[in-house]
Amino acid sequence: MQPRTPLTSNKVSTAFVESDELRQTTNTGCPWHDVRAMLRKVGLRPTRQRMELGWLLFSKGDRHLTAEMLFEEASNARVPVSLATVYNTLNQFTEVGLLRQVAVDGSKTYFDTNTSDHHHFFVEGQNALVDIPSASVTIGDLPQVLDGYEVARVDVVVRLKRKGA
Ligand SMILES: [Zn+2]
Repeated sequence: MQPRTPLTSNKVSTAFVESDELRQTTNTGCPWHDVRAMLRKVGLRPTRQRMELGWLLFSKGDRHLTAEMLFEEASNARVPVSLATVYNTLNQFTEVGLLRQVAVDGSKTYFDTNTSDHHHFFVEGQNALVDIPSASVTIGDLPQVLDGYEVARVDVVVRLKRKGA
C-alpha cells in the first residue's frame, strides 16, 4: 500500500511518510507494522483481513487458538470476517510457517503462534493447551520409518485430567 501524503504543505523532510494506520498503531504500541512486515516476508499480500487477523493472533505473545476462538475474538474486536475466512487465513498462515497446527483429537485443531520445537499438555475439560519445552520430553525408540521417508517432527500431546475426575 502506498503511504498517503499528508495534506499539510509543511515540508518537513522525513525519511518516509507513515500511513494513518501505521501512525495510529505506532502511538498505541501495537505491532501493526510488524504484522505487515511479517506477511510481506513470507510472500503473503497484507490484505486488510490478513492484517487484522494477524494482529489479533500475534500481538499477544505465544497462544493456542482454534478457528472458532479467533472468530470470536474478531467479532468482539468488530473485525468483519466470516468463520470460513478465519479458517482460510489460519491455513494460509500455517502453510507459510507463521503458525503450527496442533491436532488434539479428530475434531479440534489448534493453531500455535509458537512455531519452535515444543510439545503440549492438553487439559481436558478446559480445552486448554500448555507448552512443554522440547527438552523436557525424551522420545524413546521410534519405529522404522517407511522407505524413502524421514521423521519430520514428533508431536507429543500429554492429556491431563483433574485428579479424581
Ligand atoms: Zn504450543
